Amino acid sequence: MSTATLKNWFGGITSSPHTVVEVTSVQQIVDIVKDTERYPSPVRAIGSNHSTTPCGTADDGTVIITRKMDKILSYGEDTVTVQAGALYIDVNQELVKRGKQFYVNVELGNLTIGSACCGGTKDASMPGEFGQIASYAVGIKMVLPNGDLFEVDESDPELLQLARSSYGLFGVVYEATFRVRELAAMEVHHEKFTLDEFARQLPELRTRDESMMLYINPFKDTITVEFRRYHGASSAGDLSTWQWKLRNQVWSHFAPLWGHNVSRLFPSKWVRSALTDFYNGLIVLALTKVIKGKATLPIAQQIRYPEVSGNDRYLFSIWAFPEERYIECLRAYYDLSKEHYARTGYRIDLLSVGYRILADQSSLFSYSFNGTVITFDPVSTGTLGWDAFLREYNSLCSDLGGTPLFNQTNLLTRDQVVHAFGERVDRFEKQRRHYDPSNRLLNNYFAELLGSLDGD
Ligand SMILES: Cc1cc2nc3c(=O)[nH]c(=O)nc-3n(C[C@H](O)[C@H](O)[C@H](O)COP(=O)(O)OP(=O)(O)OC[C@H]3O[C@@H](n4cnc5c(N)ncnc54)[C@H](O)[C@@H]3O)c2cc1C
Repeated sequence: MSTATLKNWFGGITSSPHTVVEVTSVQQIVDIVKDTERYPSPVRAIGSNHSTTPCGTADDGTVIITRKMDKILSYGEDTVTVQAGALYIDVNQELVKRGKQFYVNVELGNLTIGSACCGGTKDASMPGEFGQIASYAVGIKMVLPNGDLFEVDESDPELLQLARSSYGLFGVVYEATFRVRELAAMEVHHEKFTLDEFARQLPELRTRDESMMLYINPFKDTITVEFRRYHGASSAGDLSTWQWKLRNQVWSHFAPLWGHNVSRLFPSKWVRSALTDFYNGLIVLALTKVIKGKATLPIAQQIRYPEVSGNDRYLFSIWAFPEERYIECLRAYYDLSKEHYARTGYRIDLLSVGYRILADQSSLFSYSFNGTVITFDPVSTGTLGWDAFLREYNSLCSDLGGTPLFNQTNLLTRDQVVHAFGERVDRFEKQRRHYDPSNRLLNNYFAELLGSLDGD
């Protein structure tokens, strides 16, 4: 019997757990997982609940909210150890005071440490660095489904690789240690391309010692690339932040608000489309002409979204493709976007984005496991037609041999998961059964995608 309704941050994913508990101690988590009567299965831990898929849902089960366990426990020479519910941005701000920073500065400051160490994330890889936060998790502590405390670190790389992809299916994370780096000055600038220009120049761009994040408009054929690189160590006082404050205001507030109003106020699809492209054009202009700097503060890229989302909220999805085949895949995405619009009248109302992420086998479900990838990610205010578009997008991306993320690619099917990850799904599932033989932590979402109940 459900007693509560829980929505994710955007509001589109709903869960009906029997019980929701905001935990404040490890002992409380132990008591919950051991008491199957009072706290029915599945038991799912969540952080800020920003995921765009049902990965944290627990229908008729128990949701553990970790946000109140948010202490920084210790600093090492090049590490920080933190409780699972702390926000990434809060920890990063404390690191900056000590002349340090996280390696991967994802835009979502509200990401919690618990999710960051055992789930999917993305930010364009800085030269020589990974673009997935979990790759820098060097120690993870969990409460296992039987209530035992469990710890994994770099002394067992194989198990750590699994734990970094475990999404709370092996145990509830209560603490994690991340490797951190010296604070650096970050240079940023943007350049605009057409798809043909980008295709011609990509081989050269890849050899530049810079990260690449893309803002893509298939309807106007513009690809605006954000290039970033680090200079040597620096102190926060010397670094500028205004560029990121402006970018963040436009990206997290004005653009979705514009998209929201345009989508709802103008019945004509032509007017909607023209207004969407007009605004997207202004964003591209601002990116290329204004958002640049020689020495900016990396952590200023992060956004602290309001706890409760308003009309300026947005949604996205993501698939990653081997960079050697990226252009052909992106052309197919252009075609899908335009053909879908012509056929249904629906088009995504914000700029799509893309990230170049370096090859990385640090976690089992890494989407760049087999080599460096670039993604293309539709972004939308979630108006009617988004889900139908996503299903076609998923189907196209799967056919193109892409790889999704369990917490950021919604409406996946089991076939698409198997196609993307192959034998890694079975390898994961075998270990999941080992750590959770009674499926205490398994929700319907993962049971279906991992085939956990097949043959039972
Ligand atoms: C507006 C917006 C912007 C975003 N921008 C980015 C971005 O720039 N880069 C990026 O990578 N992602 C981005 N995301 C996606 C987001 O980072 C991921 O969905 C992330 O998982 C959210 O973190 P969370 O703390 O809210 O996790 P939740 O959604 O609460 O949980 C995610 C998963 O982790 C599990 N989990 C959470 N805590 C624990 C724990 N303590 N123990 C075990 N399992 C746990 C949950 O069960 C669930 O399966 C964005 C999302 C939104 C809505």
